[in-house]
Amino acid sequence: MSDTKHSKVLIIGSGPAGYTAAVYASRAMLEPVLVQGIQPGGQLTITTEVENWPGDTEVQGPDLMIRMEAHARAVGTEIVSDHIASLDLSRRPFTAKGDGGTTYTADAVILATGAQARWLGLPSEEKFKGFGVSACATCDGFFYRGQEVVVIGGGNTAVEEALFLTNFASKVTLIHRRDELRAEKILQHRLFNNPKVELLWNHTVEEVTGTESPLGVEAVRARHVATGAITEIPCKGFFVAIGHAPASELVKDQLELHHGGYVVTKPGTTATSILGVFAAGDLTDHVYRQAVTSAGMGCMAALEAERFLAEQQAAATATANAAE
Ligand code: FAD
Ligand code: NAP
Repeated sequence: MSDTKHSKVLIIGSGPAGYTAAVYASRAMLEPVLVQGIQPGGQLTITTEVENWPGDTEVQGPDLMIRMEAHARAVGTEIVSDHIASLDLSRRPFTAKGDGGTTYTADAVILATGAQARWLGLPSEEKFKGFGVSACATCDGFFYRGQEVVVIGGGNTAVEEALFLTNFASKVTLIHRRDELRAEKILQHRLFNNPKVELLWNHTVEEVTGTESPLGVEAVRARHVATGAITEIPCKGFFVAIGHAPASELVKDQLELHHGGYVVTKPGTTATSILGVFAAGDLTDHVYRQAVTSAGMGCMAALEAERFLAEQQAAATATANAAE
């Protein structure tokens, strides 16, 4: 069924940026519509403990996002379970088309589509995706009880994934392309002190090998970055944790992007290259990429959208008065 839904503010995305924007826009009486996308709650729904959300010494990521959703609903946000397939920012009102058949029109748009996991791009990685290759230890770690697994990456995600996997796996090998991790020191400390973890420094992964029938991973072939020497590590699971890319597909031909796809915003604001379109969170942020900074930008986007709409209203009133 095809229907049309108009709002003053359309928020696309349901991570910390989207829900925070929704809380502020609702309290500004803008009656926002928020479209959740295929990952309601965003990236924090695929992790466990979050230990740097102010006010909670420790909170489970999925629980935090359930609370944010409930908060946005409680103040009046209309939350829609849909995914935006296309977005037209060439004229106002802006138009978005949902997979569910709904056309959303809006006077202002807040983009909060976040980021998604990066992959190595190996044919063998693609072949075994879902059959031993994963980018989410929280989702798939349980399947590797008592087995050996490999994680690649050197950031917070890789270290957290490796630590989480020690709850199930008999051994976790973390492969990193340098001899130093970029993860927070507290996480590194936990990793280095975990007896189930082995580190393979200065290596990249060049192939995942396994069985054909049934499809399944048996080993990872790693190459030393300087010598080229190959090390084969037997494992049943291979977790790719090499960072995240901004989810800017919807706007890539319409907004200015930089640093490999992040939406450009005017310094100190969430304003994009199109008037009335605001961007917040990991979609715009190639530096901090944290839940709290995303939430902060969601707040800014809603306040800026409110100001933009008030200015539009004032201009329309002035034009109408002049015509009388
Ligand atoms: P995301 O959380 O990425 O949410 C994006 C939203 O956009 C999703 O709801 C998605 O469904 C929606 N969306 C995307 N495309 C569309 C579309 N076309 N139509 C409709 N909706 C769409 N940060 C911390 O501060 N502390 C931590 O402990 C921490 N742990 C992490 C652990 C892991 C495993 C990962 C991956 C990240 C972690 N982060 C952590 C980073 C944090 O999750 C992100 O910085 C934050 O979630 C970004 O919020 P966001 O609102 O910008 O976007
Ligand atoms: P990240 O910080 O960008 O780290 C990506 C890691 O993958 C880097 O170590 C990088 O190596 C490595 N890498 C990149 N491409 C590679 C390739 N092709 N082959 C091999 N290795 C590759 O990404 P992230 O760890 O996903 O974190 C993303 C953001 O979320 C960060 O801002 C992070 O702080 C945040 N986050 C926070 C928490 C927390 O607060 N607890 C938890 C998870 C994520 P180099 O180091 O050599 O570049």
